[in-house]
Amino acid sequence: MPGAMQNTSKSYLLQSKMIGFVPTMGSLHEGHLSLVRRAKQESDITVVSIFVNPIQFGPSEDFERYPRDIKDDLEKLQKEKADIIFMPETSSMYPEIFLTHVEVDGISERLCGASRPNHFRGVVTVVTKLLNIVKPTKAYFGQKDFQQSVIIKQLVKDLNSDTDVIVCPTVREQDGLAMSSRNAYLSEKQRKAATVIYKCLTEASDLIKSGIIDGTFVKGFMQERILKEPEVSSVDYAGVYDPETMLDVSEIKSEILLAVALKIGDTRLIDNILVTVVK
Ligand code: AMP
Repeated sequence: MPGAMQNTSKSYLLQSKMIGFVPTMGSLHEGHLSLVRRAKQESDITVVSIFVNPIQFGPSEDFERYPRDIKDDLEKLQKEKADIIFMPETSSMYPEIFLTHVEVDGISERLCGASRPNHFRGVVTVVTKLLNIVKPTKAYFGQKDFQQSVIIKQLVKDLNSDTDVIVCPTVREQDGLAMSSRNAYLSEKQRKAATVIYKCLTEASDLIKSGIIDGTFVKGFMQERILKEPEVSSVDYAGVYDPETMLDVSEIKSEILLAVALKIGDTRLIDNILVTVVK
């Protein structure tokens, strides 16, 4: 129950313990576990939450079929020696009368926000609740969801939260595909095709490193590269973005974000890399 978690956190804080927190939706893989390991290294108490947050899914999205395997998750977390697993019921997080939502303007409407209206409103609301419940000293997020991490940093700054947001590197499969709970939806053929995402990102990065500074050209290259893969059913976005504002970059200088969101069959996959241009 959120109240029990809240009291537990309060008592740790009274003992001056540092609480490290990893929020997840479960179906854990090495990407999640890398965050848990980092939290373990830097905190006295590591809390992992498992909660498939209904309000961040659109009406036609995969909330119902989102992979859930609590037994396997608990085994993995036990192996990592996580101290506390917080698994609230939906009704305890969202009782019948629930009237407050939190929104970060601007950046939430771009990229994933453009194709998933209200997604970030749901994410920011649940993260606000989780931070209030767990009261972590540090909270750990993956670069895999880069836009999400930027939005949460802004949330924490704007609302004077006591929590430090730590962003950890994306963990990949051997062929470069970013680990994701949604990869489980892919057939063998689709799984192979999904490697196009990281290939597209690294090839675009190579173009930039070879001296190309025209963001529109790189964006065109990325879209074409992706659409060559017949298993790709649609592209939500692919291009070159400002890593703070998530706006398109037309002239590439300093640090830029290369990001892709596409669908293979019905499965929506995202990935990104940061590229630093040295003059
Ligand atoms: P999720 O369960 O998908 O909501 O993810 C929970 C946290 O794990 C988020 O901060 C994600 O960014 C992070 N995460 C998911 N996949 C990866 C990955 N492949 N590498 C690093 N972090 C990840």
